[in-house]
Amino acid sequence: MQFVSTRGGGKDAPVGFRQAVFQGLAPDGGLYHPLEEPDLSGIIRGFSPSTSFTELAFRMTRALFSQELTEDQADQLCRRAFPFEPALSRLGPGHLLLELFHGPSCAFKDFGASYLANVMQTFLDGRSQRAIILTATSGDTGSAVAQAFHGKDAIDVVILYPSGRVSPSQEQQLTTLGGNVHALEVQGSFDDCQSLVKQAFTDPALSKDLPLTSANSINLGRLIPQSFYYLWAASRDLESLDPGSSAPGTSVRSASASGASSSSPAAPRPGKSGPGTFCVPSGNFGNLTAGILARRWGMAADGFIAATNANDVVPQYLETGDYQPRPSIPTHANAMDVGSPSNFERMSALFQGDFHAMARLIRGESSNNQQILDTMKDYYQRQGVYLCPHTAAGVRAGDRALKEGTAQRVITLATAHPAKFPEIARLATGTEPAMPQRLADVMSRTKQATLIDPTLEALGAFLRDSFRS
Ligand SMILES: *Cc1c(COP(=O)(O)O)cnc(C)c1O
Repeated sequence: MQFVSTRGGGKDAPVGFRQAVFQGLAPDGGLYHPLEEPDLSGIIRGFSPSTSFTELAFRMTRALFSQELTEDQADQLCRRAFPFEPALSRLGPGHLLLELFHGPSCAFKDFGASYLANVMQTFLDGRSQRAIILTATSGDTGSAVAQAFHGKDAIDVVILYPSGRVSPSQEQQLTTLGGNVHALEVQGSFDDCQSLVKQAFTDPALSKDLPLTSANSINLGRLIPQSFYYLWAASRDLESLDPGSSAPGTSVRSASASGASSSSPAAPRPGKSGPGTFCVPSGNFGNLTAGILARRWGMAADGFIAATNANDVVPQYLETGDYQPRPSIPTHANAMDVGSPSNFERMSALFQGDFHAMARLIRGESSNNQQILDTMKDYYQRQGVYLCPHTAAGVRAGDRALKEGTAQRVITLATAHPAKFPEIARLATGTEPAMPQRLADVMSRTKQATLIDPTLEALGAFLRDSFRS
């Protein structure tokens, strides 16, 4: 599989997976996206409810990257990356929850981060090369990256976070791993952290001296494996989990049942309707983009719901065709506080800029803070179910689609464990969910972080002192 920049207009030379992974961003500032859309429907049809997540990941890795990873490497990679799995539970008639919070940091980002870490380690193995991952976090994403790369011997991770502006539990998750995970407590804002990382990548002297690379959510090594859990969900026995909700043959969307066979290679395949509509709580839209990829490759799905909080740039676009990025506003679902989603460019490229094609497949729905709290409260009071605030925005959107009849069955992605956001849970329900042991353990460990000024000099000095051989 080969990749080109979203901005290259097809004229740039395609790169392989390895280069796309280590480079992160294309040289012209665009995002890498697949040059061709392989038809993997044969492989995808071979997945059954008894196919484990690791096995599914392995078969997809083989199908996508056989030129760059041997069968052995792909096997090792998927075993190491996924000691955890997704799970499906039933929320109500027609509404399933795809639980993606069973990994080390209790959020869906564990899937992408863990695969990326193991891909990088695999590519570096035996080459006596090293990599230094530089990443800025406002709190939540850093912990998945820290956990994923911890203990990878060819890689160091440097995480910049704004001093005093992350929650105590987030800080514990970032600062207590030690080993190859280095936490830099920056005396500044999250924007300062992000700007420092950007400056370091573009500083010629630093990038000459040190093998700096990124691990943010636009990296293909994180994006691609996120398609695996859609495929996993679509291959379970949904009818026995949720009897009677799907109406095969009377699907909302018409599409050729046999999928792709007649379409030309250049045009996106129409895709197959199938066991339900995926509802995706979204911020930077990496997760949703991964779902669209899965459908392009041959997964059956009726469509997608882009569920946002009050940062509703994409739902607005899907309604009006007018894309108006703007500064983000803070909400209770803060991992989705994004006013200019970084993956929108990639989503748009997948539909070749065709707004109508995108709007046919994806519906938007935004929820404000009150609606998020009400949904959390409602599910807690009626069913004793805690939802994380991000998941709640999705669940509300999914419930609306079921009520309005625009979806027969909804599979909402549960993006984080509710115990990661105890303050919001208390606000909504008056109580807090129990912490999984792996989160509780983190709270008792000792913080190790280096305090630095928000300057490139300070960051450069730390990097050179720590890593220059
Ligand atoms: C990152 C995140 C999201 C948003 O995912 P995107 O891929 O950026 O759209 C939603 N929920 C949680 C809990 C997250 O951490």
